[in-house]
Amino acid sequence: MATKKPGLMCSMCGTVDSAANPVVTVLDGLNLCTDCIKFIDDTRDRQLASRGKATKKKANEEVSSVPTPREIKEFLDQYIIGQEEAKKYLSVAVYNHYKRINQSASDDDVDIEKSNIILVGPTGTGKTLLAKTIARLLNVPFAIVDATVLTEAGYVGEDIESLLTRLLQNCDYDVEKAEKGIVFIDEIDKIARKSDNPSITRDVSGEGVQQGLLKLLEGSTVLVPPNGGRKHPEQKMIAVDTKNILFICGGAFDGIERKIASRLNTHVVGYGHDESARKKQRENLMRYVMPQDLKSFGLIPEIIGRLPILTSLEPLDKKALRKILTEPKNAIVRQYKKLFLLDGVELEFTDDALDLIVDKAVEYKLGARGLRSIVETIMVDAMYEVPSDPVKKFTVDAQYVQKQLEKAHFEKTTISDN
Ligand code: ADP
Repeated sequence: MATKKPGLMCSMCGTVDSAANPVVTVLDGLNLCTDCIKFIDDTRDRQLASRGKATKKKANEEVSSVPTPREIKEFLDQYIIGQEEAKKYLSVAVYNHYKRINQSASDDDVDIEKSNIILVGPTGTGKTLLAKTIARLLNVPFAIVDATVLTEAGYVGEDIESLLTRLLQNCDYDVEKAEKGIVFIDEIDKIARKSDNPSITRDVSGEGVQQGLLKLLEGSTVLVPPNGGRKHPEQKMIAVDTKNILFICGGAFDGIERKIASRLNTHVVGYGHDESARKKQRENLMRYVMPQDLKSFGLIPEIIGRLPILTSLEPLDKKALRKILTEPKNAIVRQYKKLFLLDGVELEFTDDALDLIVDKAVEYKLGARGLRSIVETIMVDAMYEVPSDPVKKFTVDAQYVQKQLEKAHFEKTTISDN
């Protein structure tokens, strides 16, 4: 706390205390006149401002050095198995998106339009993983939101703008950073309207939400509740411009193959036929998904128009699941090997053990997402024992896998997510 004694002299400039330029004691032995205090304050403000500019510049530079589509795909290849088509589409779309953001005020009239993306494919095939991996590569804020929690303003549920809350939270409310982020909207198919005809009655969770999403997708300034949920009058809102936010939507669109088939004039294999023929046909048809199929499914044309990049993901077969276990950079098996190595133990999975894990994931219809829960069930005993057991090597073979799954009553505790 500054104090004042008569006859004080400024320790910095030597000015004697006066009514025009009073001198105060700021610390024991340190006296400062008002002019010097102002000088120090101004200098500090200038320094802080230039430091702020430097970090902002850095944030911009990070996005401006966007890798080429080929580099983006090569990065995705390290984490995602298969899905070649989707990876390629996504790489080009993301590259163009950030090129568009970084273009300087153009001298011609060509306006590159925003290119949001929609990924169609069964659950657990890597839609979220693709979006997450892209965000990691570009070092931009990323948020995953679920379309099913959203409802039209005025109804129970979350306001549509609240899907930007997560993005803001993920970058400590740095609005400038958030405005260049990526938002993954999961389960977009769940807000499809119930029939192909525009509704005359209110469709609170479907068409209304789609209408609300429009302005976010096309790019406008919206007011976001900082803590999500519902807006209320006393709450302070944060204005966010969505012009440069990349929206990636994902959905399983169960049953869309029937719409594709009827467009293509193909007969869908009915329930009397065997499961594998139906699965094969679904895989093949999904490849031909077009915007009009999304419309038949119940997305409104305006939404489809704002998601111009449409690509599909394939269901994962046994071969792909087997690769997912071991090949990606952060594959589950690699993670466990690392965990054991930290205790000085070499962990080995035999080929037949890996095959059996995959078989179980397929048998219980758990897909890629189930691989982790299976491996975790198998490894829990070893994880408990090994740190206090002085072994140098631990081998997991098919027999051990079978034994552990039976012991944990895996079949009985498993609930299929399909
Ligand atoms: P979706 O969003 O399509 O429902 P996710 O991307 O959430 O599925 O996938 C769930 C998990 O399954 C991922 O975290 C990942 O571990 C694994 N996974 C799914 N698909 C792949 C893939 N193609 N390559 C590697 N791992 C995958």
